Amino acid sequence: MDLQPDGRADAPDPDAAPNLASELAAPTVSRAYRCQCGRPVFLRNSQCLACRTPLGYVIDRLGVVPLAPAEDGAEAEGAGDGAEPDTFTVFGNPDGKRYRRCANLMTAASCNWMVPAPREGDDPSFNTDGLASGYCLSCSVTRTIPDLSVESNGELWRKLEHAKRRLISQLLALGLPVVSRHADPVHGLAFDFLGHMPGGPHVMTGHERGVITLNAEEAEDAVRERIRAEMREPYRTLLGHFRHEIGHYYWDLLVQPTPWLDEFRALFGDERADYTAVLQQHYEQGPPPDWANRFVSSYASMHPWEDWAETWAHYLHMADTTDTAMSFGVDATNVELASDLFTTEDLWQPEHPGATKFLDFLNGWVLLTNVLNELSRSMGQPDYYPFVLPRVAVGKLQFIHCVVTQQRDTTVSAAAAPGVPLPPHPVPPASASAPAQSQTPAQTQSQTQTQDRQQHPAQS
Ligand SMILES: [Zn+2]
Ligand SMILES: [Zn+2]
Ligand SMILES: [Zn+2]
Repeated sequence: MDLQPDGRADAPDPDAAPNLASELAAPTVSRAYRCQCGRPVFLRNSQCLACRTPLGYVIDRLGVVPLAPAEDGAEAEGAGDGAEPDTFTVFGNPDGKRYRRCANLMTAASCNWMVPAPREGDDPSFNTDGLASGYCLSCSVTRTIPDLSVESNGELWRKLEHAKRRLISQLLALGLPVVSRHADPVHGLAFDFLGHMPGGPHVMTGHERGVITLNAEEAEDAVRERIRAEMREPYRTLLGHFRHEIGHYYWDLLVQPTPWLDEFRALFGDERADYTAVLQQHYEQGPPPDWANRFVSSYASMHPWEDWAETWAHYLHMADTTDTAMSFGVDATNVELASDLFTTEDLWQPEHPGATKFLDFLNGWVLLTNVLNELSRSMGQPDYYPFVLPRVAVGKLQFIHCVVTQQRDTTVSAAAAPGVPLPPHPVPPASASAPAQSQTPAQTQSQTQTQDRQQHPAQS
């Protein structure tokens, strides 16, 4: 699809053989992974079902890769059969970096991520700093898990970790900093998955200074669907919760202390509005009647922080789905479309050097979701993408795109090894403690705390 300088979509040129992958400004990376045998493998696989090759997610490769047992060096004496137990290299690269399995591979979390096993001579950036001993980065940011003495909680924890790994793999691909609480005890990320304790307070999903709390019951499909219906939301998923809450984290990190803040206020509003008061007002009076013209969701109309988090989550939805479609060669540019596409007039900065590519990305998304919705309907399922993007939200999405890409450029230029995000803070030695501990008491209130999407007060 060609876009004219004024942003209007031109008629497709049949000779140009338009291809979504080549047309769009791909925000991130491939989501299609392959085993050494050539078969497609997926984000959560730890072994190829066809050839039994071990598989694992390797951060340096930003994807799932085939693995081979690491071989001892020829100079090693008494090396037995030559294999170094529990240590792997990427298949076909026996002299490359070495990895171990995350300690959560065999737990209910069934984690397929790999942990660096650095040797002398490796790049110093290849290390386990900031990781809980034996655990991967994703598991290291989990601080509290549901009580596993309750049998059904294992399944909830597995679903939570699956969704979180998808989130974190995307954050890494976007070049966003993912710093654990072990690395930065003050601002680092920590996830508390809390279950309701008998006689205890209702678990509030929210974010506070890097700590993301999620009600573990949300991992139960029936519970989540009931809350979704009560809240009259078109969409409610674990991944959506994670993407929303991490939006609050990155607002603290990338917007509040930076020159982006003024522009944020111009687009989203002044976040100094009393959060508790508008929260109460939102639940008592509902959203403003015209919210659909101004926000990506009714919840976004509550407060500038929530507008940011909702729009941020939307950006991550769009980027990941588009990346996945492009990775598998899905080309939505052949779609017959009656709906209007967005134009440069809808953008926040039409003159920005990346504006045209961003508009391509956005309109590719419109085309793609039209097809995906129709596919869902043909199976009798609810719409894949149950939203209508208002034009006002487009400027906010471009703003977020600019914040993310500027951060990625910073990360790439600062990183010793391309693609490996470096923590922006000094890193103390890794803690030897396991990442997951028993449930913690309720957090104290603070100005930056958000409490998201609870059950409707009348229902709880
Ligand atoms: Zn295979
Ligand atoms: Zn792990
Ligand atoms: Zn929120």
